[in-house]
Amino acid sequence: MEKNKLALHGGKPVRDAYLPYGKQWIDDDDIKAVINALKSDYITTGPTISQFEKAVAEFVGAKYAVAFSSGTAALHAACFAAGIKEKDEVITTPLTFAASANCILYVGAHPVFADINPNTYNISPKSIQSQITEKTKAIIAVDFTGQPADYDEIMSIAKNNKIIVIGDAAHSLGSTYKGGKVGSIGDMTMFSFHPVKHITTGEGGMITTNNEDYYEKLLQFRSHGITRDPQKLSKINEPWYYEMQELGFNYRMTDIQAALGLSQMKKLKTFIEKRREFAKIYNDAFEDMDAIITPFQQPSCHSSWHLYIIRINSEKLSTNRSEIFQALLAENIGVNVHYIPVYLHPYYQKIGYKKGLCPNAEKIYQEIITLPLFPKMSERDLNDVIAGVKKVISYYSID
Ligand SMILES: *Cc1c(COP(=O)(O)O)cnc(C)c1O
Repeated sequence: MEKNKLALHGGKPVRDAYLPYGKQWIDDDDIKAVINALKSDYITTGPTISQFEKAVAEFVGAKYAVAFSSGTAALHAACFAAGIKEKDEVITTPLTFAASANCILYVGAHPVFADINPNTYNISPKSIQSQITEKTKAIIAVDFTGQPADYDEIMSIAKNNKIIVIGDAAHSLGSTYKGGKVGSIGDMTMFSFHPVKHITTGEGGMITTNNEDYYEKLLQFRSHGITRDPQKLSKINEPWYYEMQELGFNYRMTDIQAALGLSQMKKLKTFIEKRREFAKIYNDAFEDMDAIITPFQQPSCHSSWHLYIIRINSEKLSTNRSEIFQALLAENIGVNVHYIPVYLHPYYQKIGYKKGLCPNAEKIYQEIITLPLFPKMSERDLNDVIAGVKKVISYYSID
């Protein structure tokens, strides 16, 4: 049975070429748009930035949008606009990319980790409630894998405690929650345009909001804290005069990137349809495998599927996640793990966070594997992933 011999044990891998877990889709129209931007008068903040912001704001149903040089910069700006300062506490999830919590540290505040719901892997409103203190200033909710967080409960906790909700929607551009689009639910919502996300600008991010005050603070923070608005200047204005009123950063996106983003927006619907279709193909393929738990979805949420994560059922397997991960990699399936709980990173350990803080997140972290999912995958790619998972899982299955 040479065919079934794992590549990890010297057998032939299910595919010859390595398949990454995520990848951008750039076509000739995108390339033309970037070339046109390069030939135009503006290569940094010009008219294309506003067009891209308008396109995203309209798509998510928000009044305002501000583009940034990365999603991380956008999160930093949101924390600034929310007025989060030293001694404030901000509640977030541990099962996320470090940036969701790092932005809290950037403004000198204290990240507080609330545990996750073991079914959705999203931050648990009950756990948020138990972490609220008089110092709590905001909640940063992450729409993990694309499935929106429990916004009704989160918004009601926020309202009762007069705190701000920042959505980290790096995974969920185009997702809906109870019929409403992600990006118009919380006080501010962050999107990322890193190449593995739904659309890309190389690096880039955006905040959407319906609040004019936040909008103006975000604009100021993006460009050194400088304002040129005559209404806001403290002195009689000369035509050349401007003021730096806050300690801002240079977090601007270029027009070159915005041209790419604007062109990508035209394909976003197709990208999302493909992700949803591929997630369904995976669900159907793994449905009857006892050793795999497929992603649970709340009926009120419609995910745009940034990530497809399987969870292994250790009781049905003769080995651990680590070996299954390595076996899949050997089959040339580009698996990944999202994420190492943030507070387990050495930096967070150094500043005082302890193992055991969020037991659900720590347990699930040991059992999850991210499979490749991106719109450009071919039918062949999908079949290879399914064949690889079936080969590896059946090899290690007990009974
Ligand atoms: C990608 C990502 C970010 C950061 O976005 P960048 O654009 O890479 O800075 C933040 N949070 C989550 C959950 C992400 O996946």
